[in-house]
Amino acid sequence: MENVKMIIDGVEITARKNMTVLEAALENGIYIPNLCYHPDLKPVGICRLCMVEINGKRLDVACKTPVEQGMQIRTENPEISKIRKIAAELLIINHPASCLSCSENMKCELQKIANYVGVDQAHIDRLKKGVKELPVDDSNPFFVYDPNRCILCGICIRTCDDVVGVGNFEFAYRGYDEMVSTFGSRPLLESRCVSCGECVVRCPVSALKPKSPVVPSREVKTICPYCGVGCGIILGVRGDKIVSSEGDRDNPVNRGRLCVKGRFGHEFVNHPDRLVTPLIKKSGQFIEASWEEALNLIAEKFSHYSGEQFAALSSAKCTNEDNYVLQKFTRAVMHTNTIDHCARLCHAPSVAGLAQSFGSGAMTNSIGEIAEAKCIFAIGTNTTSAHPVLAYEVKEAVRRGAKLIVANPKRIDLCEYADIFLQQRPGTDVALLMGMMRVIIDERLHDIDFISKRCDNFEEFSQSLKEFDLDTVEKVTRVKKEIIVEAAITYATHKPGMLLYAMGITQHTHGTDNVLATSNIALLTGNVGKPSTGVNPLRGQNNVQGACDMGALPNVYPGYQRVNIPQINQKFEKAWECTLSMEVGLTHTEIFDAILDGKVKVLYQMGENPALSEANAGHALKAIDKLEFFVAQDIFLTETAQHANVVLPAASFAEKDGTFTNTERRVQRVRKVIKPVGQAKPDWQIVCEIARRMKKPGFDFKHPSQIMEEISSLTPSYGGMTYDRLEVKGLQWPCPSVTHEGTPILHSEFFATITGKGKFMPLNYRPSFELPDDEYPLLLTTDRSLYHFHTATMTRKGGLQVLRNRELVEINPDDARVLHLRDGEMVKVISRRGAVKSHIKVSDVAPKGVISMTFHFAESPTNMITSDAIDPVAKIPETKVCAVRIEKV
Ligand code: SF4
Ligand code: SF4
Ligand code: SF4
Repeated sequence: MENVKMIIDGVEITARKNMTVLEAALENGIYIPNLCYHPDLKPVGICRLCMVEINGKRLDVACKTPVEQGMQIRTENPEISKIRKIAAELLIINHPASCLSCSENMKCELQKIANYVGVDQAHIDRLKKGVKELPVDDSNPFFVYDPNRCILCGICIRTCDDVVGVGNFEFAYRGYDEMVSTFGSRPLLESRCVSCGECVVRCPVSALKPKSPVVPSREVKTICPYCGVGCGIILGVRGDKIVSSEGDRDNPVNRGRLCVKGRFGHEFVNHPDRLVTPLIKKSGQFIEASWEEALNLIAEKFSHYSGEQFAALSSAKCTNEDNYVLQKFTRAVMHTNTIDHCARLCHAPSVAGLAQSFGSGAMTNSIGEIAEAKCIFAIGTNTTSAHPVLAYEVKEAVRRGAKLIVANPKRIDLCEYADIFLQQRPGTDVALLMGMMRVIIDERLHDIDFISKRCDNFEEFSQSLKEFDLDTVEKVTRVKKEIIVEAAITYATHKPGMLLYAMGITQHTHGTDNVLATSNIALLTGNVGKPSTGVNPLRGQNNVQGACDMGALPNVYPGYQRVNIPQINQKFEKAWECTLSMEVGLTHTEIFDAILDGKVKVLYQMGENPALSEANAGHALKAIDKLEFFVAQDIFLTETAQHANVVLPAASFAEKDGTFTNTERRVQRVRKVIKPVGQAKPDWQIVCEIARRMKKPGFDFKHPSQIMEEISSLTPSYGGMTYDRLEVKGLQWPCPSVTHEGTPILHSEFFATITGKGKFMPLNYRPSFELPDDEYPLLLTTDRSLYHFHTATMTRKGGLQVLRNRELVEINPDDARVLHLRDGEMVKVISRRGAVKSHIKVSDVAPKGVISMTFHFAESPTNMITSDAIDPVAKIPETKVCAVRIEKV
């Protein structure tokens, strides 16, 4: 960016050409009073406090005046001082709180300005008489709104509109009565507010402020433990307790922004229910044990089993280092490749499908590119609920003029911002996407140059489009053909186009085909390998990308190096000084089948909760109860851990060092913020202690940075990762050497396939495994709540519970009418595998014939009824489609 030179108060400064005078002054340490300005928001110039004299001729607000070469600015003159004083006094007059008695004394921008400008207190006191007291809104569990303090700067309104895209606040009434209010003056808890707290952190006078603020004694930068977006957070600590969480403005992923979970969801760390000591089950009861006793018992028991008798479930919540050590233990100590984790239940088809078409199964582009896209195609992703801060970027792109196409069986929040909404029947994505591709080719909108230079297999693929004529596609998907045509043309003509997807695409018996269809359409339009393009699977959990990268999968070592290739096997045997099995291990779902078949006898589970998360969870629980020995390592005594023989207390994300890899392949530092509660220990340390007791070499790590050294020495894509290099902004893999800067965009020049070209994949449409019939006439699909995470072991431990505390079956009003059901009523949802009770929510979010549930609530364990039919390639169960019926309770 070009620079300009200018003079402010006689001092020559340099500013970037796209700056305003206020930004240039503040960046150069020159204070100009301001209240309605915020660096994240478009300036509005309503407080008039930043008035300056420009080139000796005119007065104007600095926040809206662009810098120019040679510009002369005076920040003070008698006229400016007078204007500022009047502006400040008017604000204070309408602000009934007294600065001296105010709890925000010394923290408030208005007070700072009053001191700077030098207001006349006697004058203010005379004018202040008669100011009315307005009721304070404390309905939200995390923050209060006190309109009496509000100075009408509008920052909260602009934040909610332009940063979060919710539009919850507006100026209500006029003149003397003007105030900031929610739509219809509803209490915050009943309003559209999603409790992200973005307005709270920007309010300059604490009219919006945290409910029980505790000033931290120190702050530590780390990464949010919830979704795969991987936002940077700064945790505030007082004593040994976490008391606050702020967005890290230096983090390139979120640039300071957070969602409700990242900002307010840290209460679980210090929750009294945390596991604080090892537990050993004796006569059906858990008895507290010492580490010595528990670890000796585990080492002794494990030493009686080997190979296919052992299985490990790793964790997408744990660090890369934890996952690396557990997969090494499974392979090197227990001599089996049977280790898997919840990626099997969410993005295994992304790994399998994108590896076939692009040669690499991860998000091709970066979160920061979303806002620059000209078209965003969001298919099978409820982004505002599952990846909220990434959704802020999508909404930003729309504000900048991008076209948004949403394809989702449910009318999700993002539909409000969409140009085109394709409401396909669950499980018909291949038909929808192939139908769109046929339109693109018929309209000659495919990128012939890109296809001929960079792709293979186009002819065979085009042949497979024949069965996808629009009449057939409309019949299968129930989307009108005109809308399919419009979506196809929009995606093909508004470039660059970025395709985002999540579990609406993957959790199907044809999940891999769905992923291949997304890569086909990106290749067809040349939307790969360039900024703001690509196929972008949004990974669910904080470190599900990392757990896959670390080889917590039954077929690959770290870095997706296959276990059944002799040279790879030998490389790891040499490094780990052991013999390793070349037999591919069992997947998540297969592990439970093998337990029931008597093959797997011992399970070591680190941080998973299959009792709630596994499809057809009753089957998984039956298997768990058949185990000869079951060790559960977790931060809480989860529904699954209750079935264990030994429970080990693990340190939470805030109590250990390590790294997480977010959805855009960015490896980021996780830092120890407080010491582990009770006797809890980091997962990697526990695994190492078991291995050492089993007298196995290679587990003498003293710090996770040493584990990362071993990871980078054996994993080409992590070759350049060291803790020093990850310190500030992390690095995106592939990063093969210590001089490599990381890779924000994959496949820029070559695909990672054998030929170096992207591969078109011919596809057929296959219906879902279990469709509605006379006995089970409704289709159940699953979704997530913004306020909870996975099986809610962490999010049901604090204020998030106030925002959502129970399961709600979303049902269309037509279906509710036929079944004589009223909103809020308790029902039983029954499938071929079982039944669960839940309240219902009647709304048109779900289309007729489809109901939707989350899987967060143990009282309504949705996965007791979901289908465990699996995709034959990725082995993911079809949790997005099964047949059910509803009965009144
Ligand atoms: S509540 Fe705060 S941010 Fe909103 S208008 Fe009032 S003072 Fe400004
Ligand atoms: S907390 Fe978030 S959603 Fe709620 S009003 Fe503030 S900015 Fe809007
Ligand atoms: S978007 Fe995801 S990573 Fe970011 S704060 Fe929310 S839950 Fe945490």
